[in-house]
Amino acid sequence: MVLRLYNTLTRQKGDFQPIDPSNVRMYVCGPTVYDYAHIGNARPVIVFDVLFRLLRHIYGPDHVTYVRNITDVDDKINARAAERYPELAPEAAIRKLTEETAAQFHKDIAALGVLAPTVEPRATEHILEMVELCDTLVKNGHAYVAADHVLFDVSSMPDYGRLSNRSLEEMEAGARVEVAPYKKGPMDFVLWKPSKPGEPAWPSPAGIKVPGRPGWHIECSAMSWKHLGKVFDIHGGGIDLTFPHHENEIAQSRCAHGTPVMANLWMHNGFLQVEGEKMSKSLGNFITIHELLEDGWPGEVLRFNMLRTHYRQPIDWTKKSLEESARILDSWRPAIETANGNAPAQSVIDALADDLNTPAAIAELHKLANAGDPGLGSTLRFLGFSGETLRAKAEKQAETAGAMADRVAPLIAARLEARKRKDFAESDRIRDELSAMGIALKDTKNKQTGEIETTWEVMR
Ligand code: AMP
Ligand code: ZN
Repeated sequence: MVLRLYNTLTRQKGDFQPIDPSNVRMYVCGPTVYDYAHIGNARPVIVFDVLFRLLRHIYGPDHVTYVRNITDVDDKINARAAERYPELAPEAAIRKLTEETAAQFHKDIAALGVLAPTVEPRATEHILEMVELCDTLVKNGHAYVAADHVLFDVSSMPDYGRLSNRSLEEMEAGARVEVAPYKKGPMDFVLWKPSKPGEPAWPSPAGIKVPGRPGWHIECSAMSWKHLGKVFDIHGGGIDLTFPHHENEIAQSRCAHGTPVMANLWMHNGFLQVEGEKMSKSLGNFITIHELLEDGWPGEVLRFNMLRTHYRQPIDWTKKSLEESARILDSWRPAIETANGNAPAQSVIDALADDLNTPAAIAELHKLANAGDPGLGSTLRFLGFSGETLRAKAEKQAETAGAMADRVAPLIAARLEARKRKDFAESDRIRDELSAMGIALKDTKNKQTGEIETTWEVMR
């Protein structure tokens, strides 16, 4: 079967051909662990999980290596650790913050139905590889030492800018940042820098006497090299990482190893915004995965909602769409629970094989559901919907309903009485009171008696 994927490097969809079909290799940039992951961070996690599942389906589960790193050395981490744990020594504060945040990340994404990556390397465990890369790049003339930093000399690489499709001249013209005086060229970037007191520090490369720490980009070059080799199949991440992060990863890896590419295929998910606006702390619309789960949304609903938009399109994350996703998945829960372990439906695989077209795959799921096809459940399971978080939610709602029945019934009776005597102010007041308790009402007319009957359910 042919898998077609869009490649940022060539700006085209093409047939995917692994370097070694017995070991298909994919690297995805993972989180920087200093705070709760937001719902935008969940997008690459979910999108590349679907690709991982598809690759395992095509090449066999033991023939795909998926590496998603954890960035645990970073300026934002240092600042947040000092702020949150002022009583601890810097190193202990950083360790505590990164361990807690990584554990929270794992807890959050477990609910999203994602498989664990094959390897989840941490930057701090790959410092030696980073030092080696720096040494190599200085030795072969692609990097230089200045003011105890190691800097990559972008003028040494003729096709720097190929991924983001910009020439060095264009980039230099657009450079807004104040250029550090020790840089030879304005676009030269840091591979290694000296550590300030209280910052994590390791022995430096290239004969630099003072201890230092790696720049962000070199971390991924080192971890992908260690776990996937000098050239691998797929590199992924959010579209915001194309420049400078991925461009610089490519520069470092290719120039250190003398290879024509770092990865053959570069894939980028589009950005997520919330209710039509860019998500930001200052706008107050910043949503974490943790919050959504706490609010009672099953992780599978978050996953489904994410996959309703094609991964390269921007996604507008709305409550309305979440509610629709919940309704659809609830109606498919019986199929998931009685799934017969069959292979996933070929129509769904075919949709995914066309550049991970998940909206088309979901349209196929609807067709299976409408036809009462017994393959629906196993296809949903293949896509990462185990039904676990849906069941947990339904059980919780049933439990709440049981506990509230004694309080709800008299209120509903009083409301019907109020309606009968046309006291609509009172009946509305009771509806609001129930709504505040988390109870939604539904009125239906009994066709035989003509009486209004009210049913209720616990809202999420
Ligand atoms: P970070 O921890 O900021 O390095 O981001 C981790 C991953 O989440 C990267 O692949 C980012 O590209 C991705 N990401 C961050 N914000 C968003 C967003 N709003 N929408 C989609 N992806 C995002
Ligand atoms: Zn990276």
